[in-house]
Amino acid sequence: MTDEPPLGFSTRQLHAGEDAGPLSRRDGHRPRATPIYLTAGFEFDDFEDGNARFTDPEAGYSYTRVANPTNAAVERRIADLEGGRGALLVGSGQAATATAILALAGVGDHIVSASGIYEGSRELFRDTLSRTGITSSFVEDANDPDAWEAAIRPETRALFAESIPNPKNDVLDIRAVAAVARRHGIPLIIDNTLATPYLLRPIEHGADIVVHSASKFLAGHGTVLGGVVVDAGRFDWAAGGRYPHLSVERGGDGRTVVERSGRDAFLDYARTGVALRYGPSPSPLNAFLILQGIETLSLRVDRQSASALAVARWLEAQPAVASVDYSGLPSSPYHDLARQYLPRGAGSVFAITLHGGRSAARAFSDALRIFTRMTHLGDVRSLVLHPASTTHVNRTEADRVAAGIPQGLLRLSIGLEDVEDLVADLERGLAAATASVADDAAAAELLERAGVS
Ligand SMILES: *Cc1c(COP(=O)(O)O)cnc(C)c1O
Repeated sequence: MTDEPPLGFSTRQLHAGEDAGPLSRRDGHRPRATPIYLTAGFEFDDFEDGNARFTDPEAGYSYTRVANPTNAAVERRIADLEGGRGALLVGSGQAATATAILALAGVGDHIVSASGIYEGSRELFRDTLSRTGITSSFVEDANDPDAWEAAIRPETRALFAESIPNPKNDVLDIRAVAAVARRHGIPLIIDNTLATPYLLRPIEHGADIVVHSASKFLAGHGTVLGGVVVDAGRFDWAAGGRYPHLSVERGGDGRTVVERSGRDAFLDYARTGVALRYGPSPSPLNAFLILQGIETLSLRVDRQSASALAVARWLEAQPAVASVDYSGLPSSPYHDLARQYLPRGAGSVFAITLHGGRSAARAFSDALRIFTRMTHLGDVRSLVLHPASTTHVNRTEADRVAAGIPQGLLRLSIGLEDVEDLVADLERGLAAATASVADDAAAAELLERAGVS
């Protein structure tokens, strides 16, 4: 096997990790699709077998919260596509981020995160993990290595950022942040949800851990939630003594996690020390749907990125649009990074800012018929979201503006519809926005004439 050339991405998205394990071979059937093992647990052959399944990881499955063959197939496939050593599937992207952090940090520890991240992750770090004694610092300019350097403390246990933060389709200079992480002996976690392993594999650029919301592009059809933690398997957890739960504390067998699991120490601890205990278990049915989604990932993401570029180009030429933030456009400050990191396309989630603020955004959004108004992304259908009144509604106006989310900004997630139909729908939206701006101006003039200001 070893001297065969590596298989391509499209082949691997269909075949990697598809064997559902010894169980499917033992029962004699060979279903072509990975079976959905929709069961809470697995029968023990006899008394001794029950004991073996609790003491020998190779003995077989026991309970679905521990492991499940359908879930394991998804783990193997995503690990393969990301170029990781292994992966852990959990019930949502939010659970993936929480599990990754809780497997690294405890009370008194600290993490440094880019400030422009998914709002749920930001709130997790700032409001929720802080109650467990894990504090966070946020770096405003994620592409400034000095800002990361300045935020790192002796108790820092992880750096966290997104490869393509939304809504503006920024691009992270992963290699620059990874260099800082390496210098300090701290792992870099990258949320790769918007890029997907088809467009970008953070491990190839120095990331140690990758997390995903599989609810988005991986599953792809807006039907299920899921999350995944991928481990590059190359971080030295014993060096520096920063992770005593992995390299100092001994378990019942007298060994540390590093002694027991070697290069899998982080992932084994995330699985058995965090996910098994907190219990964010994925349903095998959802795992199956994620696996099915992944089989067409490259086709969908190729088409979605190409359509997004076409739509973004068209939008940029429209007078009702103040700006388009898409790194695939030469006008984007992230265009050079996109050319380095995203040669296959810059993804399909980006922002437009309309003249006329919130009322223009409302008129635009309400006039759309093909785009779905929804807080989701990476769907086969095109979606539209007004962050200031939804995902970012808990922020103060000043904070929101500082974060680059004005009232006129809308996030688009381009799906698989025909580009001409999407453009026609957006044209309808922009006409409504323009009419609302004119109405607002007329109303203001009337008020001014009446002496009310
Ligand atoms: C959606 C999303 C999450 C959270 O994932 P869920 O599956 O909704 O829990 C995390 N990060 C990013 C970038 C996301 O888009």
